[in-house]
Amino acid sequence: MPQILTARELLDRLVAFPTVSRTSNLGIVDFIEEYLESHGITCHRDYDETGEKANLFCHFGPEIEGGVVLSAHLDVVPVDGQDWASDPWVVEERDGRLYGRGTTDMKGFVATVLAAVPQMVHLKRPIQIALSYDEEVGLIGARPLVDAMKGKLPRANAVLVGEPTGLRVVSGHKSCDAVEVHVTGHEVHSSIHDQGVSAVMTAARLVEWLRKRNAENRAAPVDERNALFDPPYTTLHVGLIHGGTAHNITAKDCWFSVDIRNVSTDMDGRHFNDFSVFCAEVDAEVKAVHPDAGVEVRVNAPGPGMAPELDSPAEELARRITGDNARHAVSYGTDGGWFQTGGYSTVVCGPGDIALAHQPNEYITVEQFEAGQAFLHKLIKHCQE
Ligand SMILES: [Zn+2]
Repeated sequence: MPQILTARELLDRLVAFPTVSRTSNLGIVDFIEEYLESHGITCHRDYDETGEKANLFCHFGPEIEGGVVLSAHLDVVPVDGQDWASDPWVVEERDGRLYGRGTTDMKGFVATVLAAVPQMVHLKRPIQIALSYDEEVGLIGARPLVDAMKGKLPRANAVLVGEPTGLRVVSGHKSCDAVEVHVTGHEVHSSIHDQGVSAVMTAARLVEWLRKRNAENRAAPVDERNALFDPPYTTLHVGLIHGGTAHNITAKDCWFSVDIRNVSTDMDGRHFNDFSVFCAEVDAEVKAVHPDAGVEVRVNAPGPGMAPELDSPAEELARRITGDNARHAVSYGTDGGWFQTGGYSTVVCGPGDIALAHQPNEYITVEQFEAGQAFLHKLIKHCQE
């Protein structure tokens, strides 16, 4: 017997799974798989290396290429330390708003997609659903998800990532390199610091390089491929630094974190590469003072960008369904970066407001939730024509 649940009932069920990244997501995956299988749909799972988390994907309609992928993540950010007026894992409706963790980011979209499953019949163009784990901790699940889909399903030619954009068609986002730098110094008394290496002062040189590169990027003329971004150039930011033990000892260690947000023309990682070259030069210099000293650089979880591809198949489709013909880019990363890296035409378009994501008392308005359902309805009709 097919399970028939309204979008609202599905939202209640999905939010009740506290799918923060430190826990397994198999409960919600089981629930969704059972629901889809009750509608006669074959699901595919793709587990992570622990076996505690899985991506889930499936295909509706004819076994042909050219379909549309509806992409979403199943994980949510934690609620620890946040002041909630109601239970974050129970959807509560107040004043035209549906409160609960993930209502906007992005179980609201998942609920509308699943509620539309009974309508996904008589399709001429296939629809695929792609649900990932661990998006919130570095877009981790999407990469193997895209690979697994390529191996198992006919190739789709448009991906709609349903992150909250207020159903505007978002064509791109920057890529993000999260970089960790560890400078090792050599300790001596500060009065003879020419015989030591201060990790702090060496780090300051590296930070200054980043500051200068920011200024250069800002001063350079804007390439039209980057014009959608705000700001329309790559930014390099040091958000965290610590090192040293005393004012009169050359510091033995200094660590700092850099986030590099690349615009389209820089998504090849040129700024990170240039920075690495400078770090290698400095590494050689400090090693000449003392062989224990050095500079180590590593990238933590690179988040691929989504370069705007104007008038791409995904953009055309999303514009046709939403009527939004304006051009938008955003500054947050999405699973869309991995889909584009995998060769899929991709846009971000979903109900809700990103400003409410990750917040205490996260909600989606009933109006946006219904607009999301209307969007799906139109999309399905389009795939039936
Ligand atoms: Zn999200």
